[in-house]
Amino acid sequence: MYRNQLTVSKHVFGGAAASVSQRATRAIVDLDAIAGNVAIFRNLIAPATKLLAVVKANGYGHGAVMIAGTALAAGADQLAVATVDEGAELRAAQIHAPILVLGPASHSEIARALRLGLQLSVATLASINAISDEADCAGALRPAELHLKIDTGMRRYGCMPENALALARRIAEDRRLKFTGLFTHFASADEENEQRTLEQVDVFEATVDTIRTSGIDVGIRHVANSAATLRSRRYDYDLVRVGISLYGIAPSSETTLASGLRPAMSIRSELGRVFELAPGDRVSYGGTYVARNRERAALVPIGYADGYRRGFSGKAWMAIDGVQCPILGRVCMDQTIIGLPAEVQAHEGNEVIIAGTGTAPSLDELANVVGTIPYEIAASIARRVPRYFVERGDLVAVEDLDGLHQLR
Ligand SMILES: *Cc1c(COP(=O)(O)O)cnc(C)c1O
Repeated sequence: MYRNQLTVSKHVFGGAAASVSQRATRAIVDLDAIAGNVAIFRNLIAPATKLLAVVKANGYGHGAVMIAGTALAAGADQLAVATVDEGAELRAAQIHAPILVLGPASHSEIARALRLGLQLSVATLASINAISDEADCAGALRPAELHLKIDTGMRRYGCMPENALALARRIAEDRRLKFTGLFTHFASADEENEQRTLEQVDVFEATVDTIRTSGIDVGIRHVANSAATLRSRRYDYDLVRVGISLYGIAPSSETTLASGLRPAMSIRSELGRVFELAPGDRVSYGGTYVARNRERAALVPIGYADGYRRGFSGKAWMAIDGVQCPILGRVCMDQTIIGLPAEVQAHEGNEVIIAGTGTAPSLDELANVVGTIPYEIAASIARRVPRYFVERGDLVAVEDLDGLHQLR
C-alpha cells in the first residue's frame, strides 16, 4: 500500500518533478488520517463545544499550513499556534479562520499580531495595556480579541486566580479590546490519577464565577488538551484545544486513544550505498559497532540534523520489506548506517521505512528509545525533510525548504 503511494507520488509528479524536492528522505503525511481524526473528535465532544486544532510547532512537525486547511475543512472551528510568527505563516497561506496564539506575545510582536487579526493570550496588566495602546495606534476597525489565561496550578504561563478579576475588568472596560475567552491549561491530564486535574478545574470554575458575578462576560471558556478531551466530557466547556491526538498520537502511555484515531505521518527514504562488512570492521564515528561476521549494511540519508536523534545510535531500527534492520553505530548529522539481516534482499534505491508505519518504529517507540515523548520526536523533524501530503492516494502537495507547493 505504502509502496503504491510512493509510486503514485512519483507518477503524479510529472512536470512538477524538477521544481519540488525529490529528496529520498521524506515525511509522508496522510491528510485523510487527519480529516478522520478531526471527525472522531467532533463526534466525541458535546455538540455545542467547539473544536480548536492546535497546529503549533509546524503542526507538530506534520506541516502547519496543510494540517490547518485539512482540519478546518474536516470540521475544526478554529486554530491555535504558540507564537505570532506561526500565526503569520498561516495567514500568509490565506487561512482566515480564528487563530489563537497560546503563548505570551512580546510587546514588539503585538502590532504584527493585531494586523494579522490573531487572537492573543494575556495574563498581565502590562501586556493588556500594551495591546490596548497598539490597537489604538493601529486605528483598528475591530477590537483586539483577547483570551485571559489563568494559572490554576501548572505554574507556567497565566495569571494567578486572585488577579483574574482585575484583569478581566481591565479588558471588559476597554472598547479597543474584546474579552473573547477565559482559559487554563492542565499539568497532569495525561496521568491516570485525575485528582490534580479536578483540582485545577475547581480553581478555574471559582475564577469564572467570580468574574461572572461581577457582571463580566468571559466569552468562551476552555481548559481541555487532548488528554482531557479523550478522558471525559467533564472538560468540554465551550471549546477543546486538541493537539497531539489530532495527529493520531496518544498524549502518554496512561491515556487511551479514542478508537479510530490513527497516526498521520511516516518517514521513509531510499537506501544509498549497500555494502559488506568484514569481521572486525568498525562502523561510523568512533567505531562503536564492530562487525562479528561478514555482514551486509546500507546507508540511509537521514541524520540528527533531520531530527533523527543521535540518541537512536545502536538502539533504534528501520524496516525494509517488513524486516527490522538495526542501526549500526552512531547516527551522523546527515546519514545513518543500518544492518541488513540475511533475509533482506536490498539494493541501492530500495525503499526503507524509518518510522511511523508497519514494522518500523512508531513515533512513540522512537520516543521511548531516547527517553522522551512523541511530541518531541514529531516536533523535531526538520524543515529540510520534505513533507509529501497524500489525500485519497494522490500526492496533493509538497512542502520543502522553498515553501509549500500545491500540486492540484
Ligand atoms: C500545546 C497546547 C495544547 C495542546 O496539547 P496536546 O497535549 O497536544 O493536545 C493545548 N493548550 C495549550 C495551552 C497548549 O500549549
